[in-house]
Amino acid sequence: MSADDAQSGSKGASTAAQLLAAAIFSADRHRDQRRKGVRETPYINHPLEVSERIVRVGGVDEVEVLIAAILHDTIEDTETTAAEIERHFGPTVTALVLEVTDDRSLTWMERKRLEIEHASGLSPRAKLIKLADKICNVEDTESNPPSSWSRQRRRDYLDFAEQIALGCRGNNAPLDAEFVRVLTSARAKIG
Ligand code: ZN
Repeated sequence: MSADDAQSGSKGASTAAQLLAAAIFSADRHRDQRRKGVRETPYINHPLEVSERIVRVGGVDEVEVLIAAILHDTIEDTETTAAEIERHFGPTVTALVLEVTDDRSLTWMERKRLEIEHASGLSPRAKLIKLADKICNVEDTESNPPSSWSRQRRRDYLDFAEQIALGCRGNNAPLDAEFVRVLTSARAKIG
């Protein structure tokens, strides 16, 4: 089945069918991408891990949130449009993905500044995705960082992620605690 056949947003599809259709769609869109880490993991591992963390650690099983987590980097990092996501997965998922999508027309520094500034104003469901994304990225910064990243660059990323987590705080206690756990571990390892 191609991504375009994934009619997961159609009424009546089971939760499992919707989640798997989102995984197929996202895997297809990210098919030529690898994570920046030294292990060059296929990109799709990342959004799947973000979604899995939300349900396993956060105890959240709202299907729209889990689907939006699987799709969270498709608009930002691939040619996917909001209209395509809406067609396949509906307006609720689309709004969530857009909430956690950076504006690619801005510089990296500007995007990072705005991401911090906007974190506390995200909807509760978008905060779950944003925080789980940072949990996974902090873990990668500890155990699978890009080979070009100096120790200082890794430290700077952890400081940035902490700012985002502070903005998302108070929305889901287990995910807040998980962020503190992975950040503490990463700081101990990186020094
Ligand atoms: Zn991400």
